[in-house]
Amino acid sequence: MNEFELIDRYFRRAPRNADIRIGIGDDGAVLAPSPGMEYVMTVDMLVEGRHFAVGCDPRALGHKTLAVNLSDLAAMGALPRFVLLAGALPAPDAVWIEAFMRGFDALAAEYDVELIGGDTTRGPRTFSVTAIGELPTGSALTRGGANPGDIVYVSGRLGDAALALAAAAGRTDVDAESLALLTQRLNEPQPRVALGVALRGVASAALDVSDGLTGDLGHVLAASRVGASVDLAAIPCADALRTKLDGAEREFALGALLAGGDDYELCFTASPAMRERIDAIGRALGLPLTPIGSITVDANLVINDERGTPLTALPRAFDHFS
Ligand SMILES: [Mg+2]
Repeated sequence: MNEFELIDRYFRRAPRNADIRIGIGDDGAVLAPSPGMEYVMTVDMLVEGRHFAVGCDPRALGHKTLAVNLSDLAAMGALPRFVLLAGALPAPDAVWIEAFMRGFDALAAEYDVELIGGDTTRGPRTFSVTAIGELPTGSALTRGGANPGDIVYVSGRLGDAALALAAAAGRTDVDAESLALLTQRLNEPQPRVALGVALRGVASAALDVSDGLTGDLGHVLAASRVGASVDLAAIPCADALRTKLDGAEREFALGALLAGGDDYELCFTASPAMRERIDAIGRALGLPLTPIGSITVDANLVINDERGTPLTALPRAFDHFS
């Protein structure tokens, strides 16, 4: 099968959404924004050997390729609407592409996201997704709005993906039952779309935790020109990781929890006056929203250990060029 036959077979589809004036098949897509709404756009790239392993499950990879982009839209408070997909493949392998698109399309259907364009080429396995979301004009959540006194929250749990990755590489041990769940969190993260939308007008700042808490929260602090004081014991994590935090693997566990990356949870700040609303959002979504600290005037990130003593060296965040 050549490139054009592959595109026809797996990518081309009739537009379902009235906002799509022209969909896949022309030189570009044409979108009509809804009145009073703004578009939010984000792009992300996944490279084999760098972001995903050689020989990984193509269906899960299709899911994750889209999920990481929807996570960025969620962090802005945007509702995902449209997506463009570009991929390089070493060979036009129809079975592999069919499985990849099955994972991609299943997540797209879950969020009613439409594929409106794409490109394929021969090359080292690489995927790039451009995702377009929508929100009411002026309601985007940004990194720059945190104020001293605000509470810092994270959704879900941190460190699951890093723990799964380390266990798979034989660098630590995790019981089989926990590992199955942790591995699913690594391979098929659920973007916190409903949370992002619910946080419009509630959170003062937000981002998704993709590279690890210390680095990502650091982006909020820099953009907002504030600092934060965070309690290590308050950061939600798997029991399997909490146990390691108290034992001989403490250094590893600190790294996984604070700088592991691939979490795709939201970290956000909000005025203490929003506490009850945030509790209600967490209950409505069935998603733990945990206060882990507060925003300070002093422009440093301080993480206090279980005894309230600041950690002297914070684990470094995932560096895409290291
Ligand atoms: Mg992000």
